[in-house]
Amino acid sequence: MNRLYFDHNASSPLRPALRERICSRLQEDVGNPGSLHREGQRARSMVEQARAKVLASIQGQQGVLTFTSGATEANNIALQSLRAGDVLVTSRLEHPSIRDTAGELEERGVTLRWLDHDPRGRLSLRSLEAALDGASMIALTAANNELGNINEIKEIGVRCAAAGVALHVDAAQVWGRWPLQVEAGVSSLTLSAHKAGGPIGVGALWVDRPDRYRPLTLGGQQERGRRAGTENVAFIDAMGALAQHAEPAWAALLPLRDRLAAGLEALGGLRNGDPDRALPNTLNISFIGTEAEEMVMALDLEGVAISAGSACTAGSMEVSAVIDALGFDTDRSVSALRWSLGPGLDTADVDAAIEIARRVLERVRS
Ligand code: PMP
Repeated sequence: MNRLYFDHNASSPLRPALRERICSRLQEDVGNPGSLHREGQRARSMVEQARAKVLASIQGQQGVLTFTSGATEANNIALQSLRAGDVLVTSRLEHPSIRDTAGELEERGVTLRWLDHDPRGRLSLRSLEAALDGASMIALTAANNELGNINEIKEIGVRCAAAGVALHVDAAQVWGRWPLQVEAGVSSLTLSAHKAGGPIGVGALWVDRPDRYRPLTLGGQQERGRRAGTENVAFIDAMGALAQHAEPAWAALLPLRDRLAAGLEALGGLRNGDPDRALPNTLNISFIGTEAEEMVMALDLEGVAISAGSACTAGSMEVSAVIDALGFDTDRSVSALRWSLGPGLDTADVDAAIEIARRVLERVRS
C-alpha cells in the first residue's frame, strides 16, 4: 500500500543524500574527536565544519553552538541553568521539554509565570510585558509543534532586550525547513535535525553567553566542557550538511496545506490554532463526535499517518495539554488531529488523504 505520510512534525523522513552520507561516514570508521592522532583530528574537523555550517545557517557566528542529542536536551540545558529564586516565564502551549521542565524547576524553587493566550493560541504581548518585570528568562517555541502557531519572536525579542531578560527560543519546527536567524534579543536557540529530514538523535543549542549556562552532563571536556560525552560525529556531520542545503520543497507546502484544510473543513472539520499565523505545513483540526485516537488508528489502517492531539489512557481520553489549554469543549478537544506535511507529498496525495478521511469519518460516525 502506498503510504500517505502526514506526520512530518513528529519526524520527517531522512533525506536519501543524508542516509548515504551517514553510511559512508560510519564505514570510514572515523575516530574519536577527542583523540590527538590523525583519525581523531579528522573526526574533530568534521564536527567543527558542521558547527560552522549550522552557525552560518542561523547567522549566529557571534554566539556559541553546542551539539546535543536533539531539541529536548537543548531545551533542558537552557532551562536547567536557572536556579532557585530565578523567575521563568513561559506558556501552557509549549512542548513538554519546556513545559514539564518548567514544572520540575518550580519544585526546585524557580518561580513560574504563565503567559496568557487567546482561544486560537495567540500569545498576549500585554501579559508578556507584565511578566517581564523581574524575570530571569522567557522560554517559548518559535512555532508550536501541535497547532503550527508562529510566535512573534521578533517583537518579543525587542521587549526582552529592553527589559534585560534572557529569551530562549525553541526552533525545532523551523530550522532546516524555512529561513531562521538569531533575532535581536534572543539569548539561546534550540535546533533539531530530524524535523527537517536529518537523522533522529542530533540537535544543537546556540547561546549568546555560554557563561550563563550549566552543563547537564559532566565528565569529559567535549564541547569545551559544555556537554560531556563523545560527539555523535556522523550525525553531527549530517546536520551540517542539512544546514547547507535548505530543501526548497518546504517552501511549496502552503497551497497543499490549504487544499487539505479546505477538503477536511468540507467534511465538517473545525480548525484549531491561528490560521493567520501558522507554519505552512501544519493543520490541526477537530471532527466533533469522533475520538482522535480512533481516527488515527482507522486512518493508519487505510495508509494515512497522522498524529492525535489526544491519547487514550486506560480507556479514557487524555487530551493533549496544548489542546486542553485552548479551553475548548471536550468534544472538540478529544477529536483534535494534527496533519503535518513535508516534502514528497503532492496534490494527488492530499486529495487521496481527503477521500480516505471521508470514508473513515463516515464509518466512525455511524
Ligand atoms: N521542541 C519542539 C517544538 C518539538 O516539536 C520537538 C519534537 N516533538 C522537540 C522539542 C523535541 O525534539 P527532539 O526529538 O529533537 O528531542
